[in-house]
Amino acid sequence: MATYQKDAALHELTTSIVTCQPVTSLPESHRSILKGAEEDSFVITTTDTIFHPQGGGQPSDVGFMHVDAAEASIFEVTGARKLPDNQIYHVGKLLAAVPLNPGQPIIQKIDSQKRNYHSRYHTAGHIISIAVKQLHETIGPVSELKANHAPGMAFVEFRGLIGGEHKAAIQGRSNELVRRNLPVNVYWLDEAKAKESGVAFAEGFVMPDDGVLRVVDVEGIGAYPCGGTHLPMTLDIGEIVVRKITRKQGISKISYDIN
Ligand SMILES: [Zn+2]
Repeated sequence: MATYQKDAALHELTTSIVTCQPVTSLPESHRSILKGAEEDSFVITTTDTIFHPQGGGQPSDVGFMHVDAAEASIFEVTGARKLPDNQIYHVGKLLAAVPLNPGQPIIQKIDSQKRNYHSRYHTAGHIISIAVKQLHETIGPVSELKANHAPGMAFVEFRGLIGGEHKAAIQGRSNELVRRNLPVNVYWLDEAKAKESGVAFAEGFVMPDDGVLRVVDVEGIGAYPCGGTHLPMTLDIGEIVVRKITRKQGISKISYDIN
């Protein structure tokens, strides 16, 4: 069954239908994962997928599915969700009364502009974490907790206090790193190899069942376990703007945007 492991640079893929069913026919436990899906929505599963599901602080990809690349789309994917068994549900609207049977080839196309926008936010989040780490002598010791890379509400959170006076320095260092135009690489490593390579683990990190980690490495400056989509080079991010730093119960939150 499809898990999201595809090359993040792929924006079109031919795969095949596994299931196509109305949301209303799903078991309640699965429907609760799709909260917000309209009653007339359908769910398609495929043998493979390029749709990044909502998760890890990154919003879902959206896009279309086509029976024939030259023909109009037959399914609009309004969201993708990962089930506990790693299966990916593509939720959306059927646009044509075409039967979609198991085994039938289908062409997936993601909305590249939206994907790229999400990837810029996401990669910027890693850059801010690295900037904070590099500035530890002035900021003090903090450890990364979690992040959200949704446009308009993006933040990176740390345990420890980061004073508001560091805002300009964090933004400045982040944009310096962006301008160095460093390659952003993705590796698959086991836990031992990841630790040996200096991968930074966020507090409360849980190893995946198969023991293999997807690691994003901003060349030469920092690597993190991450399942999200990134840009190939840091300059592609654009300008990082640190909006504000807030502190609550020993946790500091750096909110940011990109220009
Ligand atoms: Zn990432």
